[in-house]
Amino acid sequence: MSALVEVRDLVKHFPLTRGIVLQRRFGEVKAVDGVSFDIERGETLGIVGETGCGKSTTARLIMRLLESTSGSIKYEGRDITRVKGAELKAIRRDMQMIFQDPYSSLNPRKTVGSIISEPFIIHRVESDKAARKLAVQELMETVGLNPEHYNRFPHEFSGGQRQRIGVARALALKPKLLIADEPVSALDVSIQAQVLNLLRDLQRRFGLTVVFIAHDLSVVRHMCDRVAVMYLGKVVELGGGDALYGAPQHPYTGALLAAVPVPDPARHHTERRLLTGDVPSPANPPKACRFHTRCPKAQERCSVEEPLLRVPEGGRTEVACHFPLTEGELAQMGVRSAG
Ligand code: SF4
Repeated sequence: MSALVEVRDLVKHFPLTRGIVLQRRFGEVKAVDGVSFDIERGETLGIVGETGCGKSTTARLIMRLLESTSGSIKYEGRDITRVKGAELKAIRRDMQMIFQDPYSSLNPRKTVGSIISEPFIIHRVESDKAARKLAVQELMETVGLNPEHYNRFPHEFSGGQRQRIGVARALALKPKLLIADEPVSALDVSIQAQVLNLLRDLQRRFGLTVVFIAHDLSVVRHMCDRVAVMYLGKVVELGGGDALYGAPQHPYTGALLAAVPVPDPARHHTERRLLTGDVPSPANPPKACRFHTRCPKAQERCSVEEPLLRVPEGGRTEVACHFPLTEGELAQMGVRSAG
């Protein structure tokens, strides 16, 4: 059976224009620049990277909330890159999104009941009012909300509860693919674990396929079967969670992992230094390997020849790097083996 979603050479360039009337084009932001990966049925795939790496744009392209510049997206073996109208509506029903900010993604003037009912109404499912109310209350229960709070407004809920409302709305139409775009980054640390646990439980319970977007590798560690690390519009490393966390091969992944705070002050200091400098502008990304301006291992070849995503000899992940990290370097960085 084919993967649920197959993304091939996906590109999204946003034009940069000058002038209000003529809108002269003077460049483009290469938000996503040749990304390929599969999303397997029933898996949780993490897409991780710093702000501006293209992870959210990739998600929006898959959802068809944005039109790609080039490349293709297949859903259940069917090319959906340019589908429109009823076909697109049907696909949208199968793919739902949970947004980063539960505060702004819920209409403050609507009750929770009507917010969660929206997908039923838009897609003309459950037209009987009483049955719809029952279905909504069931969803509220599923995500850990009190169904008696059906008539309350979003401001009457805490941040974590509001994200649960977003999750209930996303689940209403029994989607096959759930894309969670940094679903916990706007929440208090104490609440984050609760929402992560809820998502993991729901994924297992309903056999959902989930794409989990985060800027921090530690957030997705216990959530994801596989992880794709993105940097400046490219996937630089892709692999199973154990392999990627235990023995990352790309210097960027290594630096991200090493920068994860651990209860060891000595280790924490050494590693923070590994990722220095700002992310270059995606309007003018470095040539060849885009990470070469920040990479501690960069050599001349890195600025002239683009590294392609592949599994190097003895490697356990696909990596786009001419000089993948060695065991010794990993030990030096304090990135321990998976265990
Ligand atoms: Fe660093 Fe070179 Fe690998 Fe790029 S290709 S990540 S610059 S070692």
